[in-house]
Amino acid sequence: MADDAPGTAAWASSGPPAAGRPAAPMRELTEVAPGVWTATAEIWTSLTTVVVGDDGACLVVDPGITVAEVAALARAIRDRGWSVAAGFSTHPHWDHLLWAAELGDGPRWATRRGAEHALADRPDVLAKTEAAAPGHDRDLTGMVQPLPDGASTLPWDGPRVVVVGHEAHCPGHAGLVIPHAGVLLAGDMLSDLEIPLLDVEAVDPIGDYRTALDALESAAREHGVDVLVPGHGHVGNAAELARRLQADRAYLDGLVAGRTSTDPRLALPAHT
Ligand SMILES: [Zn+2]
Repeated sequence: MADDAPGTAAWASSGPPAAGRPAAPMRELTEVAPGVWTATAEIWTSLTTVVVGDDGACLVVDPGITVAEVAALARAIRDRGWSVAAGFSTHPHWDHLLWAAELGDGPRWATRRGAEHALADRPDVLAKTEAAAPGHDRDLTGMVQPLPDGASTLPWDGPRVVVVGHEAHCPGHAGLVIPHAGVLLAGDMLSDLEIPLLDVEAVDPIGDYRTALDALESAAREHGVDVLVPGHGHVGNAAELARRLQADRAYLDGLVAGRTSTDPRLALPAHT
């Protein structure tokens, strides 16, 4: 709700907390494609995705930001009779590296390079987490493990999930495609709210970004994607995916040409 401060949320409709054990608030989940559900965080329009198999085993991608909403996600999953089999971090920025004990101790994957950076940047990740979303379990934050070498899909028993690794925005970034549902989870790419945020420490940030857009577009075409879920922003259809690809490429072209951008996303608040 708009008048809620960060860290609060509506209580579950099941009534007041049981004595001695505060109930977690509920987290609203929306099914954007068969077996693919999203939840929006309280800040930065951050999107969490839950991919659910026929048996209820699910994959949690980028669980959310505040302690309360990550716990609420776990409760929403449990209340639907699902169980968390695994997690995935799209890239090693702190707001995509969070977890809660209630989500279980299944594997939490990232790309190999993403996991390396999560480990190397751990002090910075912990400091940023504590500053913006205090109270997370430090033993869980950022503790992702690399996918097996050469893995092009996630090694789990649930729906097939294709990994599209690239180096745009930050090292070891990956989009995920769920072919049977026609969904692309884009991480911090293809947002309707954020311009392309470059990895300015890379040798060729713009080249990396263009390569990544090409890879995501190619994967989307190959697997018939018609639902786009960005890491921050709003879910879009196939036309919106095409529009965002065009907008991001136009922004990059403008940067190279030294033109003043008229991209309307520049008028919106950015977070990183
Ligand atoms: Zn990011």
